[in-house]
Amino acid sequence: MRATGIFGQGHDGGRRFRPDTARGVNPLKVPLLDLKAQWAAIEGEVREAVDRVWQSQRFVMGPEVSGFEEEMAAYCECPRAVGVSSGTDALLCSLMALGVGPGDEVITTPFTFFATAGSLRRLGAKPVFVDIDPQTFNIDPHKIEEAITRRTKAIVPVHLFGQCADMDAILEIAARHKLPVVEDAAQAVGATCKGRKAGSMGAVGCFSFFPSKNLGGAGDGGLCTTTDEELADRMITLRDHGQQPQYVHAVVGGNFRLDAIQAAVLRVKLRHLDRWHQARRENAAAHSHRLAGTPVVTPVVAEGNVSIFNQYVIRAPRRDALREHLTRAEIGTAIYYPIPLHLQQCFADLGYREGHLPEAEKAASQVLALPVFPELTAEQIEYVGETIRNFYTAG
Ligand SMILES: *Cc1c(COP(=O)(O)O)cnc(C)c1O
Repeated sequence: MRATGIFGQGHDGGRRFRPDTARGVNPLKVPLLDLKAQWAAIEGEVREAVDRVWQSQRFVMGPEVSGFEEEMAAYCECPRAVGVSSGTDALLCSLMALGVGPGDEVITTPFTFFATAGSLRRLGAKPVFVDIDPQTFNIDPHKIEEAITRRTKAIVPVHLFGQCADMDAILEIAARHKLPVVEDAAQAVGATCKGRKAGSMGAVGCFSFFPSKNLGGAGDGGLCTTTDEELADRMITLRDHGQQPQYVHAVVGGNFRLDAIQAAVLRVKLRHLDRWHQARRENAAAHSHRLAGTPVVTPVVAEGNVSIFNQYVIRAPRRDALREHLTRAEIGTAIYYPIPLHLQQCFADLGYREGHLPEAEKAASQVLALPVFPELTAEQIEYVGETIRNFYTAG
């Protein structure tokens, strides 16, 4: 830490970004995510929508959920959408509908949120991890084919941080081997790949409405999209204990139902979503502009992709020290993800060792997510950039 104070000095000698130390307040304090400004902007609409649910006293499924499903199908440009209880359950329900089970292998990325691999493991299937493309952090399609065996049952790419995986290449390989593709689009609602919406390209798209996603509910929620009518019907049966009709069970399902209150809140937020995506993209561009010329590697959006920037993730030399520096300056950050899934203890029996998937391991040691939520101010973005610049110029 430098003697000049915990907030470091900018080119202006530190005047501009000095917190009001006399009162112990930093007016520029930047949380990683602040949903309060969003709430202030939509409070009236949300209260009205939730009130509709109270009036109806229909709390599980019902017209709010089917209305939301129709609106999401339209938004995702996909004929069918099935609301479920979380992003994790969207993965679970769709993998069950595709018949994934014990003895099957499923190809996926090691650099993702745990649920991607956890859900297929819960079904008795074996995750087969394929290394990532260092530019986009998404699964490297060039390494998929060599991982395919007789037992391969599906491919699960993840559209990480809001950007689609290389779907042309993935779909081509999948078609050649007659394998279904399950898009983990939990971080990518509304993202596009050559004009096609995330979740509309594979056999199924899985979405999460966890509050930190771009479309976040008032709790947990999820959704599956599909172009396959039969698969949609199977998922509808599976999300309600497999009953079809009521109390008749040809298959065993679960309780993967979506709450009406979640659907009502999400319907309101969906109307604002594209505007929020745009604000995130602008914030991302402003960060990248501010960080140009520093040792930091800013996010790369592949040609043909439009990212929704669920996260703005840099690669940073001396990442952990930079993170501490930012924490002291009251700038929120996060590491997504510190341990790649192939090195998690619960997957030790799969036999992966350090060094097996070097790009994922390298990413895990270098990545840092910066605040990118829509309501960030220009001053806050400037403050983040200057604080990072100060860290590297101070050595
Ligand atoms: C958030 C997330 C999930 C799980 O979603 P939940 O709604 O939290 O269960 C799955 N995969 C990825 C990539 C995610 O980011």
